[in-house]
Amino acid sequence: MLNETLSIKINKTQNSKIESVDWENLPFGKVFSDHMLVMDYKEGAWGNPEIKPFGPMSLHPATSAIHYGQSVFEGMKANRTGDGKVLLFRPEMNAKRFAESCERMCMPAIAEDVFTELVKRIVDIDRNWIPNKEGYSLYVRPFMFATDDFIGIKSSDTYTFVIFTCPVGVYYSSPINVKIEEFYTRASQGGVGRAKTAGNYGASLYPAKKGNEEGFHQLIWTDGIEHKYIEESGTMNVMFVVDGKLITPSEDSDTILKGVTKRSVVEIAQHWGITVEERKITVDEIITALKEDRVSEAFGAGTAATIAPIAKIGFRGELYELPAVKTREISNKVSSYLSDLKVGSIEDEMNWCVAV
Ligand SMILES: *Cc1c(COP(=O)(O)O)cnc(C)c1O
Repeated sequence: MLNETLSIKINKTQNSKIESVDWENLPFGKVFSDHMLVMDYKEGAWGNPEIKPFGPMSLHPATSAIHYGQSVFEGMKANRTGDGKVLLFRPEMNAKRFAESCERMCMPAIAEDVFTELVKRIVDIDRNWIPNKEGYSLYVRPFMFATDDFIGIKSSDTYTFVIFTCPVGVYYSSPINVKIEEFYTRASQGGVGRAKTAGNYGASLYPAKKGNEEGFHQLIWTDGIEHKYIEESGTMNVMFVVDGKLITPSEDSDTILKGVTKRSVVEIAQHWGITVEERKITVDEIITALKEDRVSEAFGAGTAATIAPIAKIGFRGELYELPAVKTREISNKVSSYLSDLKVGSIEDEMNWCVAV
C-alpha cells in the first residue's frame, strides 16, 4: 500500500566507489555508500523523496539549522544474514523516536511507516555496501534540519530530510573507561535531553574532552540538579549488574535518551528470567557497591557500540576496576544474542528483525 503511494525518484550513480573500500579495516563513520535519500518540506507538506548519488549539498549561509539548531537525527544498523537477506533491527522504534524528537524541536513529522519505508529503500539500493565481516554493519543515518534562509529566531518553514549509510567497523575495540561527571550537565528536566538533537552532542564535547585528557573514553552523566543520580553516557545508555540484578536508570525523567539497544537488553533479560530494575540509581549506590565488589558488570548500550563493556569507572579521583570482561555472564550473553539475532543466525523469537 505504502509502496504504491510513495513515489521515489531514483537517480543512480554512474561512478560507484565500492571498489575503493578497504573492507578489512573500516573505521567508524568515515566511509559513505554510493547513494543518499533526500526529501524536502515546504508549504506545509513533504515533497517526493529522491535517491541520488551521495555527495555535498549546497546551503545558504543563513540556513537556520546552522544558527539555531533545529536538527535531529537517528542511528540504526543493517546487517546481512548468512543466506543473503538484509535485516534492520527494530526500525519502528527509531521511527517513533524520530517523530518524538521532531515534535520537541518544532519540526514536521514524518509518518512512522513512511520513515521505515524510506530507510528500507536506501538500504536496499546500497545493499552491496553491507560488510560481511563479523561485528561490521551498515550504519544508517536519517536526519532532518531546518533550511529557511532567515536570520531570526523562529521555527523554520522549510526542512530537508536525508538518509545516508556508512559501512562501519567496531566503535570501541576494547573495554572503555568512564568518568562519573559531577560538574557539567548533559540534560536537565524540561530540556531536550530526550530528543536526539544536534545541540546535545555539541554541548557534550567540552566536558568529554576534559574527560579524555584524564584518560577516560566517555563520561557517565548525572542529573543536572544535584549530580546525584546516574543518567547515561554520551551515545549509550548505561547498565550495571549489582548483586546479580540488572539495573539501569529509568526513563521517567525526560533527560535520558530512550535507547533501542537498552530497551532490547531489558526485554531479553526479562525473557530469560533475570531480575531487571529500571529506577533511579544514585552515584553513591554504585560507588558503595564497587567498593564492596558487588558490581559484577557495567556496560554501555547503544546502536553504534552495541554492548560496550566498561573496564574502569572514575569518580572523585579514584579509579574503580570492574571484573574481567570474560567473567561477565549477562552482558556477554546479551551481546552475542544481539549479534547473532542481527545476522539471522538464531531464531528471532522476539520478532525484532525486519527484512529489507
Ligand atoms: C542514540 C543514543 C543512545 C542509544 O540509543 P540506541 O537507540 O540504543 O542507539 C543513548 N544515549 C544517547 C545520548 C544517544 O544519542
